[in-house]
Amino acid sequence: MAAGAQKRKRSRHRKRKANARRLQITFGRLTVFLWRMICWLAGGVLDLLAPPRCLCCDELLPLQARVSAGSKGALPVCESCRPGLVQMGPACPRCGALVAAAGVLGGGSCGAGPGVFCGACESAHPPQDSVSCSLVYEGTGKEILLAWKNSGEQALLVFLVELLLRCGKCPAGPSAGAGRPLVCPVPRHPLDRLFRPGAEGAHLAAAFASRRRWRFGRLLRKTRRTPRQAVLGRKARLVNLRGAFCLRRGVKIPSHVVIVDDVLTTGSTVGECARVLKKAGAERVDVITVARSL
Ligand SMILES: [Zn+2]
Ligand SMILES: [Zn+2]
Repeated sequence: MAAGAQKRKRSRHRKRKANARRLQITFGRLTVFLWRMICWLAGGVLDLLAPPRCLCCDELLPLQARVSAGSKGALPVCESCRPGLVQMGPACPRCGALVAAAGVLGGGSCGAGPGVFCGACESAHPPQDSVSCSLVYEGTGKEILLAWKNSGEQALLVFLVELLLRCGKCPAGPSAGAGRPLVCPVPRHPLDRLFRPGAEGAHLAAAFASRRRWRFGRLLRKTRRTPRQAVLGRKARLVNLRGAFCLRRGVKIPSHVVIVDDVLTTGSTVGECARVLKKAGAERVDVITVARSL
């Protein structure tokens, strides 16, 4: 008799616990729904007070574009400016070198396809596992990047993050748990930051990490100032960055690192960063940039 009462008591207790759990989940979903509704309404009110304009020409966006401009994944650029954003054409997945003519944003793909490497990467593997660039560094894309560097404007940063998210070879990775990739910026020398102030690649990397729900960390530091790779000859480039980057003190290197930067020029800088990270124990290093200069 006593055993039966105990059993019923345990069963009631289990039911109560299950009900409480269900209630907690429902309450959580309701909170998320209400929060989204508030954000959506606030976005609508903001649109009425300050209608979104094209980032390039400052013209008011048409009504339909305004609705989508407020949502994640939309590009606040008008139809006439959009062709100025030249998307990267098929490129070597290892180094990002363009292998065919570029297309206009919205058409064509970002990569040449998995396993199709350029001649240089076939003969000598670069340290990084992949390079993805969204745009060619010219036209409207270049203007927007320069405007962001000079002003650090939040709207431009959001736009650049959208472009990074659209990279065709943007590596997949879990958005939760310890297996999440860690996003790392390319470090600048402290004197460079002093002499050439402006929006930092680290802000872009942090904003990208936040959108992908990946971790962000400054793993590297630059130990000496170096001339720009683009102005050097091939031999000078090879030695210019040697030993220019090292690990920051006390950092723990994760297995998957994603280096994020604004513009890729020769690729030597991110290559050297990837080499240091791999040597320190990273198993996979991917590189994502907004644009690639040709
Ligand atoms: Zn425009
Ligand atoms: Zn290549």
